[in-house]
Amino acid sequence: MILGVGDIPVNGRRLSLDGEAWAVAAGRDAAGGEVSSVTGELVLHDAGAGVLRVTGTAALVAELDCDRCGESTSLQVEAEVDLGYAPVVARRTTSLDEEEVELAEDELDAGWYEGTTLDMHAVLCEAFTLAWPARVVCSDSTACEQRASTLLDAGKAETSPFAALRGLADA
Ligand SMILES: [Zn+2]
Repeated sequence: MILGVGDIPVNGRRLSLDGEAWAVAAGRDAAGGEVSSVTGELVLHDAGAGVLRVTGTAALVAELDCDRCGESTSLQVEAEVDLGYAPVVARRTTSLDEEEVELAEDELDAGWYEGTTLDMHAVLCEAFTLAWPARVVCSDSTACEQRASTLLDAGKAETSPFAALRGLADA
């Protein structure tokens, strides 16, 4: 989803994510798995000096495998979006005011855009990636832990040196 960034209204340009195929595709890229829904709204602002700022909220529901027990689980991720994008020309210009560079690099999670368009697919994918939990685990943690410990026990039995000895004793 490539958005033209010329003539952004003073109050920003609103972009609904509800039911948008490109938003689901961006969510899928961030999730590395199936995404059943993406909702929310992003607002594109002209932050001055060519800097674009994207704010808003974005939520997704993904169907992923639990990192602990391996069962498939439904993961909800909600992103509070606040990302900044500076024009590529600024990076190439040595005469750029240093304050502008600091704004872009320190106060915002910053990226770059080229020309007069912003790739909203990449923006949304980045927003979800920043909000992503360190670990994907089942929401039912008791059942998850039981499954995980069963798996662990099975693993121990197979790799235990005594497993081989038991096999000899039986023979
Ligand atoms: Zn689990």
